[in-house]
Amino acid sequence: MTGVAAHRAGEDPAGLDSPVSRLVRKAAADKFARLGVRTQRDLLRHYPFRWVAPGRLSSLADLRPGEQVTVVAEVVGAETRVSRAGGRGGSRLVVTITDGSAFLTLVFFGSSPRSFGMHTRRLRAGVRGQFTGEVSVFRDELQLTHPDYQTFEAGEDGAEAEALAAEEALRPTPIYPATRGLPSWVIAATVRSVLDPLRPGDLPEPLPAGYRAEHGLLGSLEALRAIHHPADEREVAAGALTLRHEEAFLVQTALARRRAEAAGDGAEPNAAIDAGLLAAFDAALPFTLTRGQSEVGAAIAEELSGTVPMQRLLHGEVGSGKTVVAARAMLQVVDAGGQAALLAPTEVLAQQHHRALSALLGPLARAGRLDAPDGPATRVGLLTGSQPAATRRDELARLASGETGIVVGTHALLTDTVQIPFLRLVVVDEQHKFGVEQRDALRMRGEAVPHQLIMTATPIPRTVAMTVFGDLETSVLGELPAGRSPIATTLVPAANARWMARVWERVREEVDAGGRAYVVVPRIDAGDSDDAPAQGATGGAPDDAPRPLPSASVEETSALLAAEQALAGVRVGVLHGRMAADEKDAAMAAFASGETPVLVATTVVEVGVDVSEASIIVVLDADRFGLSQLHQLRGRVGRGSRPSICLVVSGVEPGTPAWERLEVFASTSDGFALAEADLSMRREGDVLGTAQSGRTSGLRLLRLARDADVIAAARTAARELVSGDPDLERHPGLADAIAIELADGEDEFLDKS
Ligand code: ADP
Ligand code: MG
Repeated sequence: MTGVAAHRAGEDPAGLDSPVSRLVRKAAADKFARLGVRTQRDLLRHYPFRWVAPGRLSSLADLRPGEQVTVVAEVVGAETRVSRAGGRGGSRLVVTITDGSAFLTLVFFGSSPRSFGMHTRRLRAGVRGQFTGEVSVFRDELQLTHPDYQTFEAGEDGAEAEALAAEEALRPTPIYPATRGLPSWVIAATVRSVLDPLRPGDLPEPLPAGYRAEHGLLGSLEALRAIHHPADEREVAAGALTLRHEEAFLVQTALARRRAEAAGDGAEPNAAIDAGLLAAFDAALPFTLTRGQSEVGAAIAEELSGTVPMQRLLHGEVGSGKTVVAARAMLQVVDAGGQAALLAPTEVLAQQHHRALSALLGPLARAGRLDAPDGPATRVGLLTGSQPAATRRDELARLASGETGIVVGTHALLTDTVQIPFLRLVVVDEQHKFGVEQRDALRMRGEAVPHQLIMTATPIPRTVAMTVFGDLETSVLGELPAGRSPIATTLVPAANARWMARVWERVREEVDAGGRAYVVVPRIDAGDSDDAPAQGATGGAPDDAPRPLPSASVEETSALLAAEQALAGVRVGVLHGRMAADEKDAAMAAFASGETPVLVATTVVEVGVDVSEASIIVVLDADRFGLSQLHQLRGRVGRGSRPSICLVVSGVEPGTPAWERLEVFASTSDGFALAEADLSMRREGDVLGTAQSGRTSGLRLLRLARDADVIAAARTAARELVSGDPDLERHPGLADAIAIELADGEDEFLDKS
């Protein structure tokens, strides 16, 4: 975080930044490290994920083999068995525990019945405790082998312990994310050893008092006590709510500061002119702008002519006409003597944008050529990683001289050797693939901070927009240009041979009518892992869940289609991320021209690829894709006037949640609805673009799908606070908390936006 005073050394009175190894043995410290807990402060942030009410037992009915579990249960009885068979001649202690209805077996192995003395004394019928271990199956029954456990009664060490145990028994039991050999209650005790001696002032207080009062929140330390060692469930709820507000407030403050900082750097103004490129472009446009295009265009035009750098996110469904909006913005800048860069996430897209822009601008893009118009004109350059050295040198020279007014490129634009001296506008396509850092890299290229227009076709749920894109103003292109054809989506069970035969016949019919067909699959070849991460399972499947069959690959599917009766005589092309740039380009060209009217591809066709003859898309193993991703894929068709079809093929059982998810997809073409549905089924880490959990995102308890109101409240308050106190001088607790909680790249996810 730039600008926020680093948490000052010596301001850690309670030693919270010291390592956990000060408190526990090395072996335990190593296990804590595996849970992401290194310092004592990390320990305070290692929150329980469940609280078992006093007197209540955990449900044993839905344990699954392979899970590492912690349960609160009651001992029913114990039995020692001596095994005579086999060479081992050992003994087993079999203890049965219950939640009142279901049962679970605990098994301890030993050399003789005597070795169980300690267990049999503690695990008497009627005793309650916490038990933890990995669930396994033995003779059709679930069991925990050599579980760790702790009973809820005083040991043999007297009345004081007993009183303590009695008091503890009235509180909810926190259950922590634990690991083998580091059971939940050891974590609880370690947390308490840090938490109990703390006083207010040992921790920064991030939330302003007024904000806490307004929302009925606790102080920071109180909130931690409330979730680590609650008196009752109400306290848990109050503590968790406070911590969610804290998380939201920190992130929103950081975003508000980033926004304010960027606004503080002066940008070069680009006043619109009367007889320039933009006017010529508008006059030649073969259609009228949609209302959304005009409105967004006007907002952008105004921002471009000011000195506060524009930071605008332009949302628009596929085909809603974002390119036209971007082109108009770029022309305004060129008219004013500046340069504009369009950044695309892939080489295919950069080339496509270059073609599309050149075509859209027509003669206006022919500056310096024989066929240049009499009036104003500029040059549209292209810069990608795979260009021959000579071409690249030429492009660089024309950029540096200012001759190239508009440049389209990939990451290659971001390297140091690229000079764009009059750069005043950066348009980023599909922004989530670029980080703020990369955008920042481009900022530094020109005379001043460039204006920024971020375009995305991915509908983003409101909460994600507020969190991930919190520093941007947002506009939406709501309606599609007139004359667009609808896309009919049909769900096809892969097991139904008759339907599958019909799928390929349908592809044939489209091809015969002059259309093109995409066939999208999750993988490139048989040995390859899924291109698309499996989605839809909340929290991810346990490691030992049955592995799904390998999904369809480009390799297999193209071979299959080559042999398919219905497609006899139809040429099939392939496209995937491992092909060289020129191969990809050739594959796209062959598809566009109809030379290979069927294209088997991975999700490289997901974003922005535009072939208007494409009228059918078949997605195989569709359950492997997220809803938003499917929506993106569906947007590859329906770009011309021909009615289009999307066939979603999946082998999952009808009636299962995975199937129902696909039914949701087939039932609506509303990208925002799908994005919201997707969000509620995904983990935060996925949404925020980091594979890991809350830790790297700074979000532990906050859920984007659930906490929209918390985020909105925090955002409003944080923006107000920052506008009155940009350097947080009057909010040292907040500044410290940001420095601590979002430090060390933990606000990285902001940069992934
Ligand atoms: P997006 O980038 O948002 O997916 P494009 O800008 O590529 O959409 O537009 C899709 C197609 O619609 C292009 O062929 C474009 O020329 C055309 N188009 C854009 N705006 C309009 C409009 N107002 N009326 C008719 N066609 C339009
Ligand atoms: Mg586009």
